[in-house]
Amino acid sequence: MSCNHHHQQASSPSYPELNRSPGAKWIKGLTQGRLGTFLGGHFSDINLSSVLFTHRIDNQEHVQLQVWSAPGLTKPSFEEAMKQKFKSAKKGDSFGPSFSVTIPGYWQQYERVQFEFDPGCEAMIYTTDGTPLQGITGGYGGDRRVEYIIPKEAREKGTHDFVIESSCNGMFGVPWNGDTIAPPDMNRYFSLASADLVVPNQEAWHLLWDFQTLREIVDSLPGNSALQNKALVVANEIMNAFERGDASDIRRCRKLAEQVFGEGWQDLGEDVYKDEKQAQIWGIGHCHIDTAWLWPYRVTQQKVARSWATQVDLMERYPEHRFACSQAQQYKWLEQLYPPLFDRVKDFVLEGKFHPIGGSWVENDSNMPSGEALVRQFVFGQRFFESRFGKRCETAWLPDSFGLTGAYPQLIRGAGMKYFFTQKLSWNNVNVFPHSTFNWVGIDGTQVLCHMTPVDTYTAQATVGDVNKGLSNHKNVESSDKALLVFGNGDGGGGPLAKMLENLRRIRATNNNYRELPPINMGHSVDEFFDHLAEESALGKKLPNWHGELYLEFHRGTYTSHGMCSLLFYLWTLPHLFSWLAGSIKKGNRHSEILLRDVEYVATLASVLKPKEYTYPKKVLDECWEKVLLNQFHDVLPGSAIGMVYEDAEKLYAEVAKDGQKLLEEALTILLPNSVRLTPDVKLGTHSSVSQIMSVNTTPFRRREVVKIPLTGASSSVKSVIAQLDADGKTGYAIIDNGLLDPSVQDSLGPLHVSAYTNGSNHFVLRNSSVQLTISDGRITSLVDIQQGRELIPEGATGGLVIFQDRPNYWDAWDVEIHHLETSKQLEFTNVSVVSHGPLRASVKAEVKYGKSTITVLISLDAVGATVKPDSRSLFTFDAQVDWHQRHEFLKFELPLNIHNDNAIYETQFGYVQRPTHKNTTWDMAKFEVCGHKYADLSEYGYGVALLSESKYGFSCQGNVLRISLLRAATAPDAEQDQGKHEFSWAVMPHEGHFLQSDVPMAAYIFNSPLYGELLFVAIIALNIADMSLVRYVPREQDALVAKHESPLTVHGAPNVILETIKRGEDDTFEADTCDDTGSVTTVVARLYEAFGGHAKATVHIGDQFSVKTAYITNLLEDEEAKLNITGSDFGPSITLDFRGFEVKTLKLVLGKKQSAAARERSFSPKRSSWVDIDGSRLVST
Ligand SMILES: [Zn+2]
Repeated sequence: MSCNHHHQQASSPSYPELNRSPGAKWIKGLTQGRLGTFLGGHFSDINLSSVLFTHRIDNQEHVQLQVWSAPGLTKPSFEEAMKQKFKSAKKGDSFGPSFSVTIPGYWQQYERVQFEFDPGCEAMIYTTDGTPLQGITGGYGGDRRVEYIIPKEAREKGTHDFVIESSCNGMFGVPWNGDTIAPPDMNRYFSLASADLVVPNQEAWHLLWDFQTLREIVDSLPGNSALQNKALVVANEIMNAFERGDASDIRRCRKLAEQVFGEGWQDLGEDVYKDEKQAQIWGIGHCHIDTAWLWPYRVTQQKVARSWATQVDLMERYPEHRFACSQAQQYKWLEQLYPPLFDRVKDFVLEGKFHPIGGSWVENDSNMPSGEALVRQFVFGQRFFESRFGKRCETAWLPDSFGLTGAYPQLIRGAGMKYFFTQKLSWNNVNVFPHSTFNWVGIDGTQVLCHMTPVDTYTAQATVGDVNKGLSNHKNVESSDKALLVFGNGDGGGGPLAKMLENLRRIRATNNNYRELPPINMGHSVDEFFDHLAEESALGKKLPNWHGELYLEFHRGTYTSHGMCSLLFYLWTLPHLFSWLAGSIKKGNRHSEILLRDVEYVATLASVLKPKEYTYPKKVLDECWEKVLLNQFHDVLPGSAIGMVYEDAEKLYAEVAKDGQKLLEEALTILLPNSVRLTPDVKLGTHSSVSQIMSVNTTPFRRREVVKIPLTGASSSVKSVIAQLDADGKTGYAIIDNGLLDPSVQDSLGPLHVSAYTNGSNHFVLRNSSVQLTISDGRITSLVDIQQGRELIPEGATGGLVIFQDRPNYWDAWDVEIHHLETSKQLEFTNVSVVSHGPLRASVKAEVKYGKSTITVLISLDAVGATVKPDSRSLFTFDAQVDWHQRHEFLKFELPLNIHNDNAIYETQFGYVQRPTHKNTTWDMAKFEVCGHKYADLSEYGYGVALLSESKYGFSCQGNVLRISLLRAATAPDAEQDQGKHEFSWAVMPHEGHFLQSDVPMAAYIFNSPLYGELLFVAIIALNIADMSLVRYVPREQDALVAKHESPLTVHGAPNVILETIKRGEDDTFEADTCDDTGSVTTVVARLYEAFGGHAKATVHIGDQFSVKTAYITNLLEDEEAKLNITGSDFGPSITLDFRGFEVKTLKLVLGKKQSAAARERSFSPKRSSWVDIDGSRLVST
């Protein structure tokens, strides 16, 4: 019996009869609160923090520190720095870079020895021969990373020398008052908090990570779940078990944690992720490095090296770690500046652990770059990745860009990708975006599979809360329950930290026991994640769609911020010819894009027509493009960076302008030998003839325009085409039509004869036979379409400049908030005077004085239509010079219109987008300020009015009031944003018919491509033997000029198709073509798109200048996709292309080696010089 009784007691004690314990239910909140006392804080000398390090020494015997400080803002190379004289230093000093540590012999017994270096700022550790080893982020933020693990060999040797480069900037630059977006404080100093040799207590650190994971489970999961309660119980038991904090205590505590993580979980290592069939959250390491923002480009180069060095170091210790990294430009910097590190990175890329992603040159702004520039972001990005790593990217990646154009799906597909990742719309400040995983369908109907992570960040900390949010915040769980966890500190934070990888292992281990957390996966790529989404959604069929742009309901001020340049304003005093140089970020971008288009066009012609004399300047063009693409980074072009960034950006634009102009000049000199640019300084010879003056038209549209001709020394022949003189008599106005001066202008001005009328005080009228504008008492009171007898301004309303209070809730340079619209104040034109009376150009000059600012506006009307489309109305052009000294105010130009439509139209890349003019819903309301490119239009049946812009991107249409945004004046992060002088233009374009029947896109194109101010060429036809071959077949010199200038590609039968780009193929051979050497390839690439949103059948005629062997349709990267039929016609060879609305097509023409003599001969017969037939045969000239 007794034996039996004893046995019962040992194996299963029975429920006791008596109970004398208090037996209280726990007070959960107090227990939960207690967890906060186990680390740091008041008990740090006795809690877990007290045992994290077994040893710590910082004496000079063991840590020898020598310093050299680089002068000023210089960033010397490693080699230069090492040549300098270093001085001894110590902890607490201002600090610097060279260290030698002596490791005590008995430390060999320990698993790890670290050097702990905390400069309070960012730093980089190098080997003594200059190989970057890892980054350091000092300070006590969540991104703190101060430990450098001493290599095993050095520990055995007993000494170790290394070099540290400290950068005196925090992760977010050096804001002067500690507010992230405040302007930088250039006098901020950092001091060395730690330069210690330490032995970490590895088990204690593991306990710390155990405890933190448990605590996150306690704090992040719903309080009534079994797992949440269990984690709290275990964490509490750990605190009770941690008595002295010795090794056995720590072991016991860690054992307790296995109640949640599972027994022996740690021995699994990375195999904890082995069973992955259920994984819902896919973890990928990432470091979002803003290419410039609160620091300039040169600091980013260091951030890249530090962050990526850290990541390859982590990959060596955590085999499951994968790191996705975008922006070809950053790889290129690494390759140029840190070659040994680039090689290390490359090894990991080839091993499949370091993943280039995005396929673009930088993570660009996606609102403002032109369609062609977005194409080049991908062409330059993908070509770089392919050339260095043998592989292109499959997923486009723009997590932080401020809204995403509806043109993107088509461009992403065209660049060889089908997936897209972002998260920025989680920043919407009005509506919650309704999807996480969806098909994003662009304006042309192309789709990409899009994932917008439900974790709502690209810098997740890999916490239990982050992992849980991947499912709990997922908007489409009915069709897909998978989410991407993009974790790692951005910018100076260096990407994922070891503690994040440790945390994720514990989270996954927990999930292997408890199903309350979504299971997380590691060791995969973003591409694999998307492949999985595609597969489980039946190739997207199970997913919802989102059509059109991904408009960001935030940062709406970025279409306008930074309209000006600070460096280059000495050009202010130069003539209009150079005004595009006196630029700005917005202006620099637009004007550079157009300049490069022009250079590519004329350089292509020159290289094909005169291969022996001219080589296509591929290298310089690529350098120019790289600069333009770099400045399109999503904090540079939007105007949201510090002032220092704009000094660099403007310098790059100035270089592009200089190189681009030089290339243009060189190519034109080849095409038009002995010609010179007609500037005000050029003295025309007394024998100059009218036919020696011609314009170079780089647009695909025929043009008829009023131009200014310098008359100093001009012949009577030239003077005969002058119909109007400037006040000083030195400059005349003439009409240039289809490239040549119109000699009939003296006899018959036609019906468009313009005039300016004034009553001598407060009433001014500009008028021709198509339109009329009235300024009365300082406001535009009337805009009349004379042919229709239609007043376009509603009775009692007026147009003109208007100013708004501009005080956003926080992000100053980024945001204009909806409440700015409540403070509109109309400004009046004063000191109005007539400065040109016609008959070719009539202008009034007006002044607006407001606050400390002065705005001078020249309003002009010319005796030509906006385009040569029949019945095209004339433009009213507004050329403004502004001396701007307001703060937190917003200048716009507005026009109230007698036109009603629920939607207005704004140009976007390769097409347009419509946005509501009303505020029915919160989605409509949110679009109170929007991005447009060259035009914005309000049309109804029968009539419309457009605003054209040559460098502004902000527009709005509230009801019937159409506005263009001109200037803002934020003070953070650039205290001086937009202060000073500006020069820019816009135009008002009334048009008969709805936008869809109009010539608005063409007019906007031409408005953005002036004939280079007065970019005319005096072709001095010399009897030069070298040129005889070009002129000898031509009966009249006039024909010769036209023929030489004739575009080789023209589009017919589709007025809605625009030929955007003509360039040489990316893979061509660019050495000077010496006749028939083998292997050289000459191709011409043309990009065309449908501009109005409808189908088209376009015929592309190929001029005789090009002897085309074969033609292909290619993708945007110029990979051949289909061979095209070349058919003969009266016009010679042609190609027929079918377009759907907004479709972009790339055409590649492979040229033959030599052109036949017959072809050369034919090429000089005079023909059309327009690239496109806008409206039937009436535009085709002969
Ligand atoms: Zn960013």
